[in-house]
Amino acid sequence: MPVLYCTLHERLLSATYNAWIDFSLEKIQAIQALYEGFHAVNIETSAYRVIETACDKCEAASVQRLAEKLKMIDPERSGQT
Ligand SMILES: [Zn+2]
Repeated sequence: MPVLYCTLHERLLSATYNAWIDFSLEKIQAIQALYEGFHAVNIETSAYRVIETACDKCEAASVQRLAEKLKMIDPERSGQT
């Protein structure tokens, strides 16, 4: 399984913990360099392939932005369910 990583928040989806964890950009770049080196000589290393994706913090920010837009559209209904 490839590595899922969010560059914006420097978060990695850990297969071990099944959760997003903080992971430095420096470390992920080292992993990407390893992958590219192995890939260049046709060594199978798909587990080191890094895929950029939205993390838990991205999703939380997205939900927050949506809530703010809803509040602008319909201030009376927002916050009520
Ligand atoms: Zn993110």
